Amino acid sequence: AKKVRLDKFLTQAAELTRSEAKQKIKKGSVTINEELIKKPEVKISLQDRVCIDGEEVLYEQYRYIMLHKPAGVISATEDAEDRTVLDLIAEGKKGLFPVGRLDKDTEGLLLLTNDGVLAHNLLSPKKHIDKTYFAILDGPVGTKEQELFLQGLDIGDEKLALPAKLELTENKNEVFITVQEGRFHQVKRMAQAVGRNVTYLKRISMGNLVLDPNLKKGEYRSLTEKELTSLK
Ligand code: URA
Repeated sequence: AKKVRLDKFLTQAAELTRSEAKQKIKKGSVTINEELIKKPEVKISLQDRVCIDGEEVLYEQYRYIMLHKPAGVISATEDAEDRTVLDLIAEGKKGLFPVGRLDKDTEGLLLLTNDGVLAHNLLSPKKHIDKTYFAILDGPVGTKEQELFLQGLDIGDEKLALPAKLELTENKNEVFITVQEGRFHQVKRMAQAVGRNVTYLKRISMGNLVLDPNLKKGEYRSLTEKELTSLK
């Protein structure tokens, strides 16, 4: 297997200068496979686990994948019973995880990445990233419901849901709902708060990221540079 010097590895994987890398190593911040190493010239292979101050440094490039999640798979990395979204990814899935969750029966846009910082930023409740869903309801809704959504619904939590947008379509049972939060079963509970049940739910967008209409259920692709930039 290919071996590289520890300090060189850190310049690439942790974006440090060579002298910063040497400093960190010499002051005892760096471990290889949980063993403290103070010599910058030590050679490691890419299978070794390198940590700075306990945080793993990943050599691989970050990956960002847009998945068209089908119904019936779980938004998790592992599950004892069901197939997960990771089972749909053919290769290079080490370290990938879904950014947020869609219910098992929900379809549509799911972002998978190994970039914890991006995920954290997208999921942070303070950031209010808009998520838009297409929903089919078990009955019609109209302007009255639109107003209730805008006022902030009581969905049984301590706090009201933040104002959300309900867009009506020609078919009164079919709507687009845009929420700023990601509470458990949020859209379903908002619909219930106005007396309707969701019978079909699909996420269309998250922030500036829109589900690629060319992706069939279960298909995925990497984000383009432009899409990635628009998320950051
Ligand atoms: N709201 C829901 O109720 N379910 C989802 O999967 C996503 C949003």
